Amino acid sequence: MLFDKEWTEWLPIYVWVIEHDEGIIVVDAGETSRVHENGYHPSWHPFYRRASRFSVHPDEEIGFQLHALGISARDVRQVVLTHMHTDHAGGLIHLTGSKIWVAEQELSRAGGLGGRLKGYLPHRWPKNWEPNFIRFDNHTVGPFRQSMSLTRSGDVLVIPTPGHTPEHVSVLVCGSPSFFLAGDTSYNQKLLLAGKVDGVSPNEAISRQTMGNIVALSKERPLVYLPSHDSESEERLVQESVIEHSAENLLVGTGSL
Ligand SMILES: [Zn+2]
Repeated sequence: MLFDKEWTEWLPIYVWVIEHDEGIIVVDAGETSRVHENGYHPSWHPFYRRASRFSVHPDEEIGFQLHALGISARDVRQVVLTHMHTDHAGGLIHLTGSKIWVAEQELSRAGGLGGRLKGYLPHRWPKNWEPNFIRFDNHTVGPFRQSMSLTRSGDVLVIPTPGHTPEHVSVLVCGSPSFFLAGDTSYNQKLLLAGKVDGVSPNEAISRQTMGNIVALSKERPLVYLPSHDSESEERLVQESVIEHSAENLLVGTGSL
């Protein structure tokens, strides 16, 4: 990432909106158009200096995008942050009236000078936000040993998906098919199925374990996999295209991840 100037084409930054009977749930907050202000990103940091470039128009921010869907930010009951990287938390300013869920350790790792050295932007978080900490219980979901339900009906679950960051979480919307709102568990579905860990994850083995669990879950139930930066996520969501497994894979259960 740091040395290849053309390591990828432009990628989307998706935010997911779940219209649920118990209230609207938003997963991640996206980025802010303030990224174009001089000095918004620390130019001394190698990731921002060498490995990333952002393009966010004001009408692409979550506030405007919700409005375009006929949803007022005030109607958003809950927000789940998969992790605190700026392209997932930069739009928080639009959502401070909602109940915001984040992993406690993720937030503490992202805060202060230590967080800034890791590339987080804690000085850009809203001043007055009061996050709620995710508390998992032992309700299992396929290979995942823990989860936290966001609804009384138990059909929208936060699940721990450590890897990209140590306390990274994903959201599973249960149904037929189920939707796996994956944050950055992998940058796209091809990388998931190939078992390719990104260059950011601090612990490759943990990332690989999480990716293997997602694939295992997709063998148990029809699953639409939606990473935040996969340019094919939108089409898979619309088409409800689930992760396919060949008969051969199912027969021999190739747990190669
Ligand atoms: Zn990230």
